[in-house]
Amino acid sequence: MLYQRRSALFSEAEKVIPGGVNSPVRAFKGVGGTPIFVKEAKGAYLYDEDGNRLIDYINSWGPMILGHAYKPVVDAVVEKAKKGTSFGMPTEIETKIAQLAVSMVPNIDKIRFVNSGTEACMSAVRLARGYSGKEKIIKFAGCYHGHSDSFLIQAGSGASTFGTPNSPGVTQGTAKDTLLAQYNDIESVKNLIDANKGEIACIIVEPVAGNMGCIPPQNNFLQKLRDLCDAHDILLVFDEVMTGFRLAKGGAQELYGVYADILCFGKVIGGGLPVGAFAAKSEIMDHLAPVGPVYQAGTLSGNPLAMAAGLAMLTSLNSDVDIFKRLADKTEYLHQGIHKVLLDNKIVHTINRVGSMISVHFHSDPVTDFDSAANGNNETFKKFFHGMLDAGVYIAPSAFETWFITDALNYEDLDFTINAVNQVAKTL
Ligand code: PMP
Repeated sequence: MLYQRRSALFSEAEKVIPGGVNSPVRAFKGVGGTPIFVKEAKGAYLYDEDGNRLIDYINSWGPMILGHAYKPVVDAVVEKAKKGTSFGMPTEIETKIAQLAVSMVPNIDKIRFVNSGTEACMSAVRLARGYSGKEKIIKFAGCYHGHSDSFLIQAGSGASTFGTPNSPGVTQGTAKDTLLAQYNDIESVKNLIDANKGEIACIIVEPVAGNMGCIPPQNNFLQKLRDLCDAHDILLVFDEVMTGFRLAKGGAQELYGVYADILCFGKVIGGGLPVGAFAAKSEIMDHLAPVGPVYQAGTLSGNPLAMAAGLAMLTSLNSDVDIFKRLADKTEYLHQGIHKVLLDNKIVHTINRVGSMISVHFHSDPVTDFDSAANGNNETFKKFFHGMLDAGVYIAPSAFETWFITDALNYEDLDFTINAVNQVAKTL
């Protein structure tokens, strides 16, 4: 595999962009080396600036469920672009995608579109505070809800990779309103509620954690959260930025049969364009401006290109009755294949999987929360990452990230990947 041009491109980028990247997880800081520069992508493959073809398991960190440059999305964007790219005024397509999203997701009446998952979560929490009149929130160690101040308290994803869970710039005043519980540990949540009676506006959680590897909720964790919220008049917020429209048509709510009060969406809902959204029953959503007092706005929110991409994407997902089963089957095949070759090569590991989200951890204990995710052998992961890359398979450059499976992958690609794991395992 050739890597010449990317070094030159990265040196140029570093001169004018901090760290050479516009989002930290893209850097290879956790694994060493120079990031890949993508030239183009199609289906399951990335093509880099050095002319290499890579099988992509990041898929833009989730949204490319149907593959890169998916024709209905590209066509919809091209057609829309010819008619103007932003008006800052209402358009019919915003209502169309809202109607479709509301019909696919359980327990919501209204949805508002924003430009990123960060904005969605930030706005959802403001709404929860405005609706309830309470200020504190509970989040879980290792869960990532974007980079707004309230959430940069033991966040997962890049914030864990770089070991700076509490970022400078987040004030003590903000930090004190974010209470930290342990994922899958309902006692840790009860203790916080008891110590802060009547003060908690909401609990925000990734219903399947995807930012410390993939960590499924265990022992009815989500239902227990729902019960605690009901008992203590606390709003439950599901951050479905990764799980929404990926685990099922109705996301994690549908998969687990537990409903939240406010939902956050991102990436997927824009088919790869910058979109996020938050949604709830009318009683809650109507607290938003202009009907209610909770302010939230955006010049580019609901812009025509993003809405066209999102509508094409959601329409495809909604009309394909087998899609979520196909994705889960492919992911299970990959899971079993990787497990077998790692076992054959005597590599200590744990694999977590829910639907089309999967992560490989290099230690033998169950990975159920942030502490157990952090136990993995990072040296082994680094070698594994670079070995896979050399073999033509691109996984996230951090042990704290989930692999996302796209329907564009065929079983030959999966076999190729399993074979690459087998070869790399011999070097670990
Ligand atoms: N919530 C979750 C669960 C996420 O995974 C992410 C991004 N990876 C975000 C929120 C933030 O989304 P964005 O990067 O679009 O701001």
